[in-house]
Amino acid sequence: MCIAQEEVWDVTELMVRCGRARSPRLGTRRNPLDGELMITFEVLHEDAKTGARLGRLTTPRGTFETPVFMPVGTKATVKAMSPEELKEIGFDIILANAYHLYMRPGVDVVKQAGGLHRFMNWDRSILTDSGGFQVFSLSAVTRVGDEGVEFRSLIDGSKHFLTPEKVIEAEEALGADIIMPLDVCSPYPSDRDRIRTAVERTSDWAERSKKALKSDQALFGIVQGGLHKDLRRESAEALVELDLPGYAVGGLSVGEPHEAMFEVLDATVPLLPKDKPRYLMGVGNPTSMLEAVSLGIDMFDSVLPTRTARNGLALTSVGKVNIKNSRYARDFSPLDPEDECYACANYSRAYLRHLYQAGEILAARLITWHNLSYLAKLAEKMRRSIEADSFSEFKREYLAKHGAEFGRA
Ligand SMILES: [Zn+2]
Repeated sequence: MCIAQEEVWDVTELMVRCGRARSPRLGTRRNPLDGELMITFEVLHEDAKTGARLGRLTTPRGTFETPVFMPVGTKATVKAMSPEELKEIGFDIILANAYHLYMRPGVDVVKQAGGLHRFMNWDRSILTDSGGFQVFSLSAVTRVGDEGVEFRSLIDGSKHFLTPEKVIEAEEALGADIIMPLDVCSPYPSDRDRIRTAVERTSDWAERSKKALKSDQALFGIVQGGLHKDLRRESAEALVELDLPGYAVGGLSVGEPHEAMFEVLDATVPLLPKDKPRYLMGVGNPTSMLEAVSLGIDMFDSVLPTRTARNGLALTSVGKVNIKNSRYARDFSPLDPEDECYACANYSRAYLRHLYQAGEILAARLITWHNLSYLAKLAEKMRRSIEADSFSEFKREYLAKHGAEFGRA
């Protein structure tokens, strides 16, 4: 998962994306090395005019349709929301971060609790990011070699050495349904040699991760390669050879020009198997999601809806609403006039502004509720328009109305 550098303000939040340990409730353990997969993916319908597809992903904890947006619960919590509330909004899968949980409270604590699902009381699907991005972007990395990465914790300065095998071990203890291997995410901009080394190491580490995996968790591959299409191809080809149950595109949305990101994505997606889920890491801005879905991406995650909510920003059908603005002081209409989420059904902009100005926790909770609800509904609209072969019209109308006003993610 790559998050634009300018978004980095909360070190702990950025460090969360992690895995799961097999639940004893799941019954028979299946080994992916035997060819059996713990997740299944089916393309239900391909849009007639674009690369968009409606899919169905099944994990041991449930079935949901794609394209899907996954709220980020870095430290085993989606900030300001309870698991029950996330279910009420309609989410079936969330993301957590192995690196953050490895650092705090420690994977042994989560394991003793019975795994991440029980620890946080979320019985639906979880995807854990390895935290490769966080290690490279947030920690004081002291040494990177073929074996692994050595770094100092930003929490207490302690020294750690992570290898792909150690990350898999941690993700097995956590027990997410889908897990990401340790990868090397080059910052933007980086020189070609550095990116090539990152690609080679990422491929090698993915192979080692697959070998180290003893559980039935679904290990995805992460395609790297910066903005170099040939390196993206090398990365994708090496990972596809490993026959993993899903593929992610990493290292994008890290500060590169918007157009460059989609050019690379356009060249990368066709290299990935059609019958496996495709995940664009760290992207959750509505405009970018629409573009990526039209290229054939199925899964997204981003801190955008939750982080912007805590900054008083709401994504609405009438555009961006900055609740700090004094124009809302006596506006007793809902945050989004076209929405019926819990926040919009019960509270006014004036009240939300008052809560925000007063530093009340409820402001963050209610705006987060709305923003997550907005993205859940957007994903649902995308799915239904793909099903009806009207995705390109839906996308065109949405972009005509909103353009890029919601910013990048
Ligand atoms: Zn709402």
